[in-house]
Amino acid sequence: METTATFEAGPGITGVDTFMAGRPTVTSAYLIGAREPALVETGPTTSVDAVAAGLHALGLGADDLAHIVVTHIHLDHAGGAGRLAKAFPKATVWVHERGTPHLADPTRLVSSATRVYGEDRLNALFGPVDPTPRERLRSVAEGDVIDFGDRSLEVLYTPGHASHHVSLVDSSSGAVFTGDALGVHLPDVPVLQPATPPPDIDVELGVQSIERIRERGSEAGLLLFSHFGPVVEVDELCHIASTRLRKWAGIVRDAMQETNDLDRIAELLTHGTANEFTELGLQRSAVERFDILADMRNNAAGLVRYWTKRAEREASEASVT
Ligand SMILES: [Zn+2]
Repeated sequence: METTATFEAGPGITGVDTFMAGRPTVTSAYLIGAREPALVETGPTTSVDAVAAGLHALGLGADDLAHIVVTHIHLDHAGGAGRLAKAFPKATVWVHERGTPHLADPTRLVSSATRVYGEDRLNALFGPVDPTPRERLRSVAEGDVIDFGDRSLEVLYTPGHASHHVSLVDSSSGAVFTGDALGVHLPDVPVLQPATPPPDIDVELGVQSIERIRERGSEAGLLLFSHFGPVVEVDELCHIASTRLRKWAGIVRDAMQETNDLDRIAELLTHGTANEFTELGLQRSAVERFDILADMRNNAAGLVRYWTKRAEREASEASVT
């Protein structure tokens, strides 16, 4: 498939549609036009051809891409890192320090994703995951600056969606690459929904991270979502993101009082959040791209795990004191 679609995302920043799962406007990568050109996010391995074609269309040859930076290691963001690193052999791959070992050896990452998605969906959505050679990998943490010559990205550690999630602030425009910290917001469906998959979603950390993104993103007035594209309503969307994250978590906590059947909890979550779509005259079921990214059963499973772990933690703290 030689489909390419690129779009202007910000000053000197070009979006590259990864055509994840063969669909447009689900997952975006971004090219930062610096002296050392840098790509943010890779999409899954099944997207590598589309991303490479996009980069070639933007004038980058195989030896021209200098950096690949990922917000976290979930397969829709970084699953293609190993294969893309092969196609662009000069690129250094940057990831939060907790994610580095899993890009070097994706065995555990793949088995964790298989538990979440099942083998058939995993293969259809993401394809295989090639390891990234260790000598090409660099670890980052809070406050680090990734230098591209005449421009850089500052690392904001923003756990919540995942324990190794970072957001990235562009030195030149102030735009913030938000990964999945705020959730999913697709350009033609003006709904923002939390993304709360297993295994390590943390609601309180997620709300704190959204607040940090709001503080940093307000000035430039530009957030760059991985799902999908640029957004200028920074305060409004950050407010919606944290309010909904708490609301969804509350619905699941209440549902857990009633049942421990995950399908039933997912049903209650779907029902309890349906107005986020119906207020716009849409049915959630009509917007299948949301389900590609974060189906409600997985969102429910992530939040059940969060509350279960939290209760265990609080019980063990109580027994210590
Ligand atoms: Zn994602």
